Amino acid sequence: MSRAPVKPILVVHGGAGNIPDVKRPLYREGLEQALAAGWPVLEQGGSALDAVLAAVRVMEDLPQFNAGRGSALNREGYVEMDAGVMDGRTLDVGAVAAVSRVANPILLAYEVMVHSPHILLAGPGAESFAQARGIPLVHPDMLITEERRRRLQAWLREHGQEVGDTVGAVALDAEGHLAAATSTGGMMGKLPGRVGDSPLVGCGFYADDTLGACSTTGVGETIARALLAYRAVEALAEDTIPQEAAERAIRSLEERIPGGEAGLILLDRRGRVGVAWNTRRMGYGYRTPGCKVLHV
Ligand code: ASP
Repeated sequence: MSRAPVKPILVVHGGAGNIPDVKRPLYREGLEQALAAGWPVLEQGGSALDAVLAAVRVMEDLPQFNAGRGSALNREGYVEMDAGVMDGRTLDVGAVAAVSRVANPILLAYEVMVHSPHILLAGPGAESFAQARGIPLVHPDMLITEERRRRLQAWLREHGQEVGDTVGAVALDAEGHLAAATSTGGMMGKLPGRVGDSPLVGCGFYADDTLGACSTTGVGETIARALLAYRAVEALAEDTIPQEAAERAIRSLEERIPGGEAGLILLDRRGRVGVAWNTRRMGYGYRTPGCKVLHV
C-alpha cells in the first residue's frame, strides 16, 4: 500500500522549568540552531530518526541546555546523563543512563538501538560500549560548565527542586515515519546513580507511526510513574487533537501525582503539533514547509 505524501515537520524543546528572562534569547538561539540542524534532513527527504538525532545532538553541544556539555551536576559535582531514542516505524528503542564520559549521549543511544541486542545500557557498561563502537570517551570535566558549578553551590545551600533545560525532539518525515529523542543531565543535586524518566521508553520519549511521537521534560520521578510520553501518544488513538492530548496528559500527571511538574511536545501521524507544560516556562520550536515557530 503506498502512502499519500506527507508534509514533514520537526519539533524541538529545550526543557520545561523556570527560564529566567535574561536567558530567554540564549534559549531561543539554541532552539533555532536545533531546527537549523534537523530541518534540512527532513527537507531533503531524510528520515525522522536522523532529524531528531541531528537536532538533539546540536542542543547537547550547547552549554545553555541541560544535556551533554552544560548538564546539571549531581550532588557530588559531576555529570551523569540520560538519553533515549525511538523509531516509530519499527518501535526500535535505544537508550543510555548515567553516562559521565560521552559528549553526545543521544548518539550513543542510537548505537545501542542499532548495534546491540538491548534497549538500555547504563554507567560504565554503556561507556565501554561507546568505545567498542568507536565513540571516544571525554574527560568528565569537559562536560562541566562554570555556570552549572555555581548553580550546584546555590542548590546545596537551598535544596530547592530544580528541573529545566532538558532537550528533546520529535519529527515526521515525508514517508510518514515518526521518531522521538530526549537527552538530559537530569535533576540538579540528584544522588549519584539516579536515573530519571528521560532514558525510559514511554516515560521520557515514545514514537509509534500508527499514533504519534512525544518527548517529555520535568520532574522525572513523577513523569516515569505517569508513563507520560506513552500516555500522551495513546490519547491520540481516538483521533484526539494533539494539543488536547498534550494538555490532558499534563493535567492527569498533575492530578494524580503530587509534585508532577512537566512539559511535553507531541506530534500525531498527520503532523499536527501539541505542546503543554505546567512549569513556569518551556522553550520549544517547530519547522514545517513554509512555517517556523519559536517560543521561549
Ligand atoms: N526529566 C529530567 C529528569 O528528571 C529532567 C528535566 O527534564 O529537566 O531527569
